[in-house]
Amino acid sequence: MTQHPIIVVGAGIVGISTALWLQRDGHDVVLMDKDKPGQAASYGNSGLIANWAVTPVTYPGLWWALPRMVLDRRAPLFLKWRDMPKMAPWLAKFMGNATDRKTRQIANSMATLLTDAVDQHRALVKGTAVESWVHDSKINFLYPTRRAFDRDKYNYDLMADAGQHADVITGPAVHEEEPILGPRIQCIAQMSGTGHITDPGNYAAKLAEHFAAQGGRFVRATVQDFGFTGGHVSQVRTDQGAFDCAKAVVTSGIWSKELTRKLGLNIPVESERGYHVIYENPSELPRNPMLLSDGKFGVNAMDMGLRFAGTVELARHTSPQSQRPLDLIQGYVKATFPNLTCTGTQEWMGNRPTLPDSVPIIGPLKDTGIFAGFGHQHVGLTSGPKTGRLLAQMIGGAGPNIDMAPYSADRYLN
Ligand SMILES: Cc1cc2nc3c(=O)[nH]c(=O)nc-3n(C[C@H](O)[C@H](O)[C@H](O)COP(=O)(O)OP(=O)(O)OC[C@H]3O[C@@H](n4cnc5c(N)ncnc54)[C@H](O)[C@@H]3O)c2cc1C
Repeated sequence: MTQHPIIVVGAGIVGISTALWLQRDGHDVVLMDKDKPGQAASYGNSGLIANWAVTPVTYPGLWWALPRMVLDRRAPLFLKWRDMPKMAPWLAKFMGNATDRKTRQIANSMATLLTDAVDQHRALVKGTAVESWVHDSKINFLYPTRRAFDRDKYNYDLMADAGQHADVITGPAVHEEEPILGPRIQCIAQMSGTGHITDPGNYAAKLAEHFAAQGGRFVRATVQDFGFTGGHVSQVRTDQGAFDCAKAVVTSGIWSKELTRKLGLNIPVESERGYHVIYENPSELPRNPMLLSDGKFGVNAMDMGLRFAGTVELARHTSPQSQRPLDLIQGYVKATFPNLTCTGTQEWMGNRPTLPDSVPIIGPLKDTGIFAGFGHQHVGLTSGPKTGRLLAQMIGGAGPNIDMAPYSADRYLN
Protein backbone atom coordinates (compact mmCIF):
# COMPACT_ATOMS: atom_id res chain seq x y z
CA MET A 1 0.00 0.00 0.00
CA THR A 2 1.30 3.49 -0.83
CA GLN A 3 2.06 5.61 2.19
CA HIS A 4 0.66 9.06 1.50
CA PRO A 5 2.37 12.21 2.78
CA ILE A 6 1.34 14.54 5.56
CA ILE A 7 0.17 17.80 3.94
CA VAL A 8 0.83 21.05 5.78
CA VAL A 9 -1.43 23.85 4.54
CA GLY A 10 0.15 27.26 4.91
CA ALA A 11 3.82 28.17 4.64
CA GLY A 12 4.10 30.93 7.22
CA ILE A 13 6.53 30.52 10.10
CA VAL A 14 4.15 28.10 11.87
CA GLY A 15 3.63 25.84 8.83
CA ILE A 16 7.28 25.87 7.79
CA SER A 17 8.38 24.98 11.34
CA THR A 18 5.83 22.16 11.42
CA ALA A 19 6.94 20.82 8.03
CA LEU A 20 10.60 20.89 9.08
CA TRP A 21 10.07 19.12 12.39
CA LEU A 22 7.85 16.50 10.75
CA GLN A 23 10.52 15.97 8.10
CA ARG A 24 13.22 15.61 10.76
CA ASP A 25 11.07 12.97 12.42
CA GLY A 26 11.20 10.97 9.19
CA HIS A 27 7.79 11.77 7.67
CA ASP A 28 7.10 12.35 4.00
CA VAL A 29 5.80 15.93 4.00
CA VAL A 30 4.19 18.24 1.43
CA LEU A 31 4.04 21.94 2.27
CA MET A 32 1.34 23.89 0.41
CA ASP A 33 0.69 27.57 0.04
CA LYS A 34 -1.34 29.77 -2.28
CA ASP A 35 1.65 32.11 -2.31
CA LYS A 36 5.42 31.83 -1.98
CA PRO A 37 6.52 30.80 1.55
CA GLY A 38 6.67 33.49 4.24
CA GLN A 39 4.75 36.19 2.40
CA ALA A 40 1.79 36.80 4.74
CA ALA A 41 1.91 37.80 8.45
CA SER A 42 5.29 36.11 8.73
CA TYR A 43 6.73 38.58 6.22
CA GLY A 44 6.29 41.99 7.80
CA ASN A 45 6.40 41.53 11.56
CA SER A 46 8.76 43.29 13.98
CA GLY A 47 11.16 40.35 13.99
CA LEU A 48 11.19 40.21 17.79
CA ILE A 49 11.67 36.87 19.48
CA ALA A 50 9.34 38.10 22.17
CA ASN A 51 9.93 35.45 24.84
CA TRP A 52 8.56 37.97 27.37
CA ALA A 53 5.22 38.72 25.62
CA VAL A 54 2.92 36.68 27.85
CA THR A 55 0.33 39.42 28.51
CA PRO A 56 -2.56 39.44 26.05
CA VAL A 57 -4.16 42.58 24.62
CA THR A 58 -7.19 41.79 26.81
CA TYR A 59 -5.73 42.87 30.16
CA PRO A 60 -8.14 43.75 33.00
CA GLY A 61 -9.20 47.37 32.60
CA LEU A 62 -9.47 47.20 28.82
CA TRP A 63 -13.23 47.63 29.24
CA TRP A 64 -12.67 51.13 30.63
CA ALA A 65 -9.77 52.02 28.38
CA LEU A 66 -11.32 50.86 25.11
CA PRO A 67 -13.73 53.76 24.43
CA ARG A 68 -11.02 56.31 25.22
CA MET A 69 -8.45 54.48 23.10
CA VAL A 70 -10.78 54.27 20.13
CA LEU A 71 -11.52 57.99 20.28
CA ASP A 72 -7.96 59.15 21.09
CA ARG A 73 -6.14 59.88 17.83
CA ARG A 74 -2.77 59.13 19.48
CA ALA A 75 -3.86 55.66 20.69
CA PRO A 76 -2.60 52.68 18.68
CA LEU A 77 -5.93 50.82 18.71
CA PHE A 78 -8.26 51.16 15.74
CA LEU A 79 -11.63 49.68 14.86
CA LYS A 80 -12.91 49.35 11.33
CA TRP A 81 -16.47 50.35 12.20
CA ARG A 82 -18.10 48.82 9.17
CA ASP A 83 -16.62 45.42 10.11
CA MET A 84 -17.95 45.54 13.66
CA PRO A 85 -21.38 43.94 13.06
CA LYS A 86 -19.69 40.84 11.59
CA MET A 87 -16.91 40.85 14.20
CA ALA A 88 -19.25 41.51 17.16
CA PRO A 89 -19.58 37.87 18.33
CA TRP A 90 -15.79 37.45 18.33
CA LEU A 91 -15.27 40.85 19.95
CA ALA A 92 -17.71 40.04 22.75
CA LYS A 93 -15.81 36.80 23.49
CA PHE A 94 -12.44 38.59 23.19
CA MET A 95 -13.49 41.28 25.68
CA GLY A 96 -14.90 38.58 27.95
CA ASN A 97 -11.28 37.58 28.59
CA ALA A 98 -10.36 41.02 29.96
CA THR A 99 -10.45 39.89 33.58
CA ASP A 100 -7.66 39.26 36.07
CA ARG A 101 -8.39 35.53 36.29
CA LYS A 102 -8.46 34.99 32.51
CA THR A 103 -5.43 37.19 31.91
CA ARG A 104 -3.35 35.17 34.38
CA GLN A 105 -4.56 31.92 32.83
CA ILE A 106 -3.65 33.17 29.32
CA ALA A 107 -0.25 34.44 30.50
CA ASN A 108 0.50 30.99 31.98
CA SER A 109 -0.44 29.21 28.76
CA MET A 110 1.57 31.66 26.67
CA ALA A 111 4.62 31.42 28.95
CA THR A 112 4.88 27.70 28.15
CA LEU A 113 5.07 28.54 24.44
CA LEU A 114 7.30 31.60 24.73
CA THR A 115 9.95 31.47 27.42
CA ASP A 116 12.38 29.14 25.60
CA ALA A 117 11.71 30.74 22.20
CA VAL A 118 15.31 31.77 21.46
CA ASP A 119 16.46 28.18 22.04
CA GLN A 120 13.55 26.90 19.94
CA HIS A 121 14.61 29.11 17.03
CA ARG A 122 18.22 27.91 17.42
CA ALA A 123 17.05 24.29 17.32
CA LEU A 124 14.93 24.99 14.23
CA VAL A 125 17.70 26.68 12.24
CA LYS A 126 20.44 24.17 13.13
CA GLY A 127 22.06 22.91 9.95
CA THR A 128 20.22 25.40 7.72
CA ALA A 129 21.47 28.43 5.77
CA VAL A 130 19.93 30.71 8.40
CA GLU A 131 21.78 29.25 11.36
CA SER A 132 23.38 32.64 12.08
CA TRP A 133 20.18 34.66 11.61
CA VAL A 134 18.93 34.31 15.19
CA HIS A 135 20.45 37.26 17.04
CA ASP A 136 20.75 37.52 20.81
CA SER A 137 19.65 40.92 22.05
CA LYS A 138 18.13 42.97 24.79
CA ILE A 139 14.77 44.63 24.38
CA ASN A 140 14.20 48.22 25.46
CA PHE A 141 10.62 49.18 26.34
CA LEU A 142 10.37 52.95 25.91
CA TYR A 143 8.35 55.25 28.17
CA PRO A 144 7.93 59.03 28.19
CA THR A 145 8.09 59.03 32.01
CA ARG A 146 8.85 56.76 34.93
CA ARG A 147 5.21 57.15 35.98
CA ALA A 148 4.06 55.77 32.62
CA PHE A 149 6.26 52.73 33.28
CA ASP A 150 4.85 52.35 36.78
CA ARG A 151 1.33 52.26 35.31
CA ASP A 152 2.37 49.09 33.43
CA LYS A 153 3.15 47.25 36.69
CA TYR A 154 0.51 44.58 36.10
CA ASN A 155 2.18 43.62 32.81
CA TYR A 156 5.69 43.55 34.32
CA ASP A 157 4.46 41.43 37.24
CA LEU A 158 3.03 38.88 34.80
CA MET A 159 6.28 38.86 32.84
CA ALA A 160 8.24 38.44 36.10
CA ASP A 161 6.02 35.47 37.01
CA ALA A 162 7.14 33.98 33.69
CA GLY A 163 10.78 34.57 34.62
CA GLN A 164 11.38 37.75 32.60
CA HIS A 165 12.62 40.70 34.64
CA ALA A 166 13.23 44.29 33.56
CA ASP A 167 15.87 46.78 34.73
CA VAL A 168 14.66 50.36 34.80
CA ILE A 169 16.84 53.10 33.32
CA THR A 170 16.01 56.79 33.87
CA GLY A 171 17.72 60.18 33.60
CA PRO A 172 20.78 60.80 31.38
CA ALA A 173 21.48 57.04 31.26
CA VAL A 174 18.50 56.67 28.90
CA HIS A 175 20.26 58.57 26.12
CA GLU A 176 23.62 56.97 26.89
CA GLU A 177 21.92 53.60 26.44
CA GLU A 178 20.20 54.60 23.19
CA PRO A 179 21.61 57.81 21.65
CA ILE A 180 19.03 57.58 18.83
CA LEU A 181 16.26 58.60 21.27
CA GLY A 182 15.03 62.19 21.50
CA PRO A 183 14.09 63.90 24.79
CA ARG A 184 10.50 62.57 24.69
CA ILE A 185 11.70 59.24 26.12
CA GLN A 186 12.75 59.50 29.77
CA CYS A 187 12.52 55.89 30.90
CA ILE A 188 13.62 52.52 29.52
CA ALA A 189 12.63 49.15 30.93
CA GLN A 190 15.30 46.77 29.69
CA MET A 191 15.18 42.99 29.44
CA SER A 192 18.07 40.71 28.56
CA GLY A 193 18.12 37.22 27.14
CA THR A 194 15.82 37.90 24.24
CA GLY A 195 16.44 37.82 20.49
CA HIS A 196 15.49 39.07 17.07
CA ILE A 197 15.52 38.33 13.35
CA THR A 198 16.57 40.94 10.79
CA ASP A 199 14.48 39.71 7.84
CA PRO A 200 11.57 37.53 9.00
CA GLY A 201 10.10 36.99 5.52
CA ASN A 202 13.38 35.81 4.07
CA TYR A 203 14.06 33.74 7.22
CA ALA A 204 10.83 31.81 6.57
CA ALA A 205 11.59 31.53 2.85
CA LYS A 206 15.10 30.16 3.46
CA LEU A 207 13.75 27.59 5.93
CA ALA A 208 11.25 26.49 3.27
CA GLU A 209 14.13 26.17 0.79
CA HIS A 210 15.96 24.00 3.31
CA PHE A 211 12.85 21.82 3.68
CA ALA A 212 12.78 21.33 -0.12
CA ALA A 213 16.53 20.67 -0.30
CA GLN A 214 16.08 17.90 2.28
CA GLY A 215 13.53 16.14 0.05
CA GLY A 216 10.31 17.90 1.10
CA ARG A 217 7.89 19.02 -1.58
CA PHE A 218 6.52 22.55 -1.77
CA VAL A 219 3.33 22.86 -3.84
CA ARG A 220 1.95 26.24 -4.78
CA ALA A 221 -1.82 25.74 -4.66
CA THR A 222 -4.87 27.19 -2.95
CA VAL A 223 -6.49 24.63 -0.70
CA GLN A 224 -10.25 24.62 -1.14
CA ASP A 225 -11.51 21.60 0.76
CA PHE A 226 -10.69 18.22 2.27
CA GLY A 227 -11.80 14.72 1.28
CA PHE A 228 -12.50 11.97 3.83
CA THR A 229 -12.50 8.18 3.89
CA GLY A 230 -14.29 6.62 6.84
CA GLY A 231 -14.31 9.98 8.65
CA HIS A 232 -10.53 10.37 8.33
CA VAL A 233 -8.90 12.91 6.02
CA SER A 234 -7.59 11.28 2.85
CA GLN A 235 -7.35 14.18 0.41
CA VAL A 236 -6.51 17.86 0.25
CA ARG A 237 -8.43 19.47 -2.62
CA THR A 238 -6.88 22.48 -4.29
CA ASP A 239 -7.18 24.66 -7.38
CA GLN A 240 -4.34 22.50 -8.77
CA GLY A 241 -6.17 19.23 -8.22
CA ALA A 242 -6.61 16.77 -5.36
CA PHE A 243 -3.66 15.43 -3.34
CA ASP A 244 -3.87 12.21 -1.32
CA CYS A 245 -2.66 12.48 2.23
CA ALA A 246 -2.27 10.41 5.39
CA LYS A 247 -2.85 13.44 7.61
CA ALA A 248 -3.20 17.20 7.13
CA VAL A 249 -2.20 20.21 9.19
CA VAL A 250 -3.94 23.59 8.99
CA THR A 251 -1.36 26.31 9.63
CA SER A 252 -3.04 28.90 7.45
CA GLY A 253 -2.94 31.95 9.73
CA ILE A 254 -6.05 34.11 9.49
CA TRP A 255 -7.37 31.98 6.61
CA SER A 256 -7.61 28.97 8.96
CA LYS A 257 -11.09 30.21 9.79
CA GLU A 258 -12.31 29.60 6.23
CA LEU A 259 -10.53 26.27 5.94
CA THR A 260 -11.84 24.88 9.22
CA ARG A 261 -15.33 26.03 8.22
CA LYS A 262 -15.04 23.52 5.36
CA LEU A 263 -14.87 20.89 8.09
CA GLY A 264 -18.13 22.16 9.55
CA LEU A 265 -16.29 23.83 12.43
CA ASN A 266 -16.97 27.38 13.53
CA ILE A 267 -13.72 28.45 15.17
CA PRO A 268 -13.80 32.17 16.03
CA VAL A 269 -10.52 33.52 14.71
CA GLU A 270 -10.33 37.17 13.62
CA SER A 271 -7.60 39.58 12.71
CA GLU A 272 -5.76 42.00 14.92
CA ARG A 273 -4.27 43.75 11.95
CA GLY A 274 -0.89 45.41 12.25
CA TYR A 275 1.15 47.76 10.11
CA HIS A 276 4.77 48.50 9.39
CA VAL A 277 6.76 51.39 8.02
CA ILE A 278 10.34 50.83 6.89
CA TYR A 279 12.83 53.70 6.80
CA GLU A 280 15.25 52.83 3.99
CA ASN A 281 18.92 53.74 4.53
CA PRO A 282 18.26 55.25 7.96
CA SER A 283 20.69 57.89 9.21
CA GLU A 284 20.85 56.20 12.66
CA LEU A 285 20.15 52.81 14.18
CA PRO A 286 19.20 51.69 17.69
CA ARG A 287 21.68 49.47 19.56
CA ASN A 288 18.96 46.99 20.51
CA PRO A 289 15.38 46.38 19.36
CA MET A 290 12.81 48.56 21.10
CA LEU A 291 9.11 48.63 21.82
CA LEU A 292 7.33 51.94 22.06
CA SER A 293 4.89 51.65 24.97
CA ASP A 294 2.52 54.41 23.83
CA GLY A 295 2.70 53.77 20.06
CA LYS A 296 2.63 49.98 20.63
CA PHE A 297 5.07 49.15 17.88
CA GLY A 298 8.44 47.47 17.65
CA VAL A 299 11.59 49.17 16.36
CA ASN A 300 14.08 46.81 14.78
CA ALA A 301 17.14 47.45 12.59
CA MET A 302 16.61 45.07 9.69
CA ASP A 303 18.44 44.16 6.50
CA MET A 304 16.12 46.32 4.40
CA GLY A 305 16.06 49.32 6.76
CA LEU A 306 14.73 50.37 10.12
CA ARG A 307 11.36 48.72 10.62
CA PHE A 308 8.61 50.15 12.84
CA ALA A 309 5.91 47.49 13.13
CA GLY A 310 2.85 47.16 15.31
CA THR A 311 -0.44 48.88 16.30
CA VAL A 312 -3.73 46.99 16.47
CA GLU A 313 -6.62 47.43 14.08
CA LEU A 314 -9.64 45.22 14.73
CA ALA A 315 -10.89 44.62 11.21
CA ARG A 316 -11.76 41.76 8.91
CA HIS A 317 -8.81 40.44 6.95
CA THR A 318 -10.72 41.02 3.72
CA SER A 319 -11.10 44.79 4.31
CA PRO A 320 -8.81 47.27 2.57
CA GLN A 321 -5.75 48.65 4.32
CA SER A 322 -6.24 51.81 6.42
CA GLN A 323 -4.10 54.93 6.46
CA ARG A 324 -4.50 56.05 10.09
CA PRO A 325 -2.30 53.35 11.69
CA LEU A 326 0.48 54.19 9.24
CA ASP A 327 0.15 57.91 10.00
CA LEU A 328 0.19 57.14 13.72
CA ILE A 329 3.44 55.16 13.38
CA GLN A 330 5.03 57.98 11.37
CA GLY A 331 3.93 60.57 13.95
CA TYR A 332 5.46 58.62 16.84
CA VAL A 333 8.65 57.95 14.87
CA LYS A 334 9.16 61.68 14.24
CA ALA A 335 8.47 62.54 17.89
CA THR A 336 10.69 59.78 19.30
CA PHE A 337 13.64 59.87 16.89
CA PRO A 338 13.83 63.58 15.96
CA ASN A 339 17.16 63.35 14.10
CA LEU A 340 16.32 60.25 12.08
CA THR A 341 16.25 60.64 8.30
CA CYS A 342 15.95 58.12 5.46
CA THR A 343 15.97 57.93 1.66
CA GLY A 344 12.50 56.41 1.31
CA THR A 345 9.80 54.45 3.12
CA GLN A 346 7.84 51.24 2.57
CA GLU A 347 4.46 50.44 4.11
CA TRP A 348 2.73 47.13 4.84
CA MET A 349 -0.29 45.65 6.59
CA GLY A 350 -0.60 42.10 7.96
CA ASN A 351 -3.13 39.92 9.77
CA ARG A 352 -2.40 38.59 13.23
CA PRO A 353 -4.69 35.56 13.63
CA THR A 354 -6.30 35.85 17.07
CA LEU A 355 -8.69 33.61 18.97
CA PRO A 356 -10.89 35.21 21.65
CA ASP A 357 -8.65 33.91 24.46
CA SER A 358 -5.43 34.83 22.58
CA VAL A 359 -4.10 31.26 23.00
CA PRO A 360 -3.32 29.42 19.75
CA ILE A 361 -4.88 26.12 18.81
CA ILE A 362 -2.20 23.43 18.63
CA GLY A 363 -3.47 19.90 18.18
CA PRO A 364 -5.99 17.62 16.49
CA LEU A 365 -9.34 18.75 15.13
CA LYS A 366 -11.50 16.00 16.61
CA ASP A 367 -10.69 12.57 15.11
CA THR A 368 -10.44 13.80 11.52
CA GLY A 369 -6.71 13.20 11.08
CA ILE A 370 -6.40 16.95 10.61
CA PHE A 371 -4.29 18.94 13.05
CA ALA A 372 -4.26 22.70 13.59
CA GLY A 373 -1.61 25.26 14.45
CA PHE A 374 -3.07 28.74 14.23
CA GLY A 375 -4.12 31.75 16.29
CA HIS A 376 -0.63 32.92 17.29
CA GLN A 377 -1.72 36.59 17.50
CA HIS A 378 1.21 38.95 18.27
CA VAL A 379 3.76 36.20 18.88
CA GLY A 380 3.69 33.80 15.93
CA LEU A 381 7.28 34.44 14.94
CA THR A 382 8.34 33.83 18.53
CA SER A 383 6.31 30.68 19.12
CA GLY A 384 6.11 29.24 15.58
CA PRO A 385 9.17 26.96 15.96
CA LYS A 386 7.91 25.46 19.24
CA THR A 387 4.41 25.02 17.83
CA GLY A 388 5.87 23.13 14.88
CA ARG A 389 7.82 20.87 17.20
CA LEU A 390 4.80 20.20 19.42
CA LEU A 391 2.63 19.38 16.40
CA ALA A 392 5.27 17.00 15.04
CA GLN A 393 5.40 15.26 18.44
CA MET A 394 1.60 14.98 18.56
CA ILE A 395 1.37 13.70 14.99
CA GLY A 396 4.23 11.24 15.55
CA GLY A 397 2.26 9.74 18.43
CA ALA A 398 4.86 10.13 21.18
CA GLY A 399 3.22 13.33 22.37
CA PRO A 400 4.82 16.38 23.96
CA ASN A 401 5.89 16.35 27.60
CA ILE A 402 3.71 19.37 28.40
CA ASP A 403 -0.03 19.59 29.04
CA MET A 404 -1.58 20.46 25.67
CA ALA A 405 -5.11 20.98 27.07
CA PRO A 406 -4.89 24.82 27.06
CA TYR A 407 -4.18 24.73 23.30
CA SER A 408 -6.83 22.19 22.39
CA ALA A 409 -9.36 23.08 19.70
CA ASP A 410 -12.01 21.42 21.85
CA ARG A 411 -12.50 24.60 23.87
CA TYR A 412 -14.13 26.07 20.76
CA LEU A 413 -15.81 22.92 19.48
CA ASN A 414 -17.89 21.70 22.42
C1 LIG B 1 2.78 44.40 12.40
C2 LIG B 1 3.05 43.05 13.00
C3 LIG B 1 4.14 42.90 13.85
C4 LIG B 1 4.39 41.65 14.43
N1 LIG B 1 5.53 41.49 15.19
C5 LIG B 1 5.81 40.27 15.72
C6 LIG B 1 7.01 40.06 16.45
O1 LIG B 1 7.86 40.95 16.58
N2 LIG B 1 7.23 38.83 17.00
C7 LIG B 1 6.34 37.81 16.86
O2 LIG B 1 6.56 36.75 17.41
N3 LIG B 1 5.21 37.96 16.11
C8 LIG B 1 4.93 39.15 15.54
N4 LIG B 1 3.80 39.33 14.80
C9 LIG B 1 2.86 38.20 14.66
C10 LIG B 1 3.35 37.19 13.66
O3 LIG B 1 3.76 37.84 12.47
C11 LIG B 1 2.22 36.21 13.34
O4 LIG B 1 1.67 35.69 14.54
C12 LIG B 1 2.76 35.03 12.53
O5 LIG B 1 3.43 35.49 11.39
C13 LIG B 1 1.63 34.10 12.11
O6 LIG B 1 2.23 33.08 11.34
P1 LIG B 1 1.36 31.99 10.62
O7 LIG B 1 2.31 31.03 10.02
O8 LIG B 1 0.32 31.49 11.56
O9 LIG B 1 0.54 32.80 9.52
P2 LIG B 1 0.96 33.46 8.13
O10 LIG B 1 2.35 33.95 8.15
O11 LIG B 1 -0.11 34.45 7.82
O12 LIG B 1 0.92 32.25 7.11
C14 LIG B 1 -0.27 31.63 6.71
C15 LIG B 1 -0.02 31.06 5.33
O13 LIG B 1 -1.14 30.29 4.92
C16 LIG B 1 -1.32 30.46 3.54
N5 LIG B 1 -2.69 30.08 3.19
C17 LIG B 1 -3.83 30.62 3.71
N6 LIG B 1 -4.91 30.03 3.18
C18 LIG B 1 -4.45 29.13 2.30
C19 LIG B 1 -5.10 28.22 1.43
N7 LIG B 1 -6.43 28.13 1.37
N8 LIG B 1 -4.35 27.44 0.63
C20 LIG B 1 -3.00 27.51 0.67
N9 LIG B 1 -2.33 28.37 1.49
C21 LIG B 1 -3.06 29.15 2.29
C22 LIG B 1 -1.04 31.94 3.35
O14 LIG B 1 -0.75 32.26 2.01
C23 LIG B 1 0.15 32.16 4.29
O15 LIG B 1 1.38 32.00 3.64
C24 LIG B 1 3.52 40.56 14.18
C25 LIG B 1 2.45 40.71 13.31
C26 LIG B 1 2.21 41.94 12.72
C27 LIG B 1 1.06 42.07 11.76
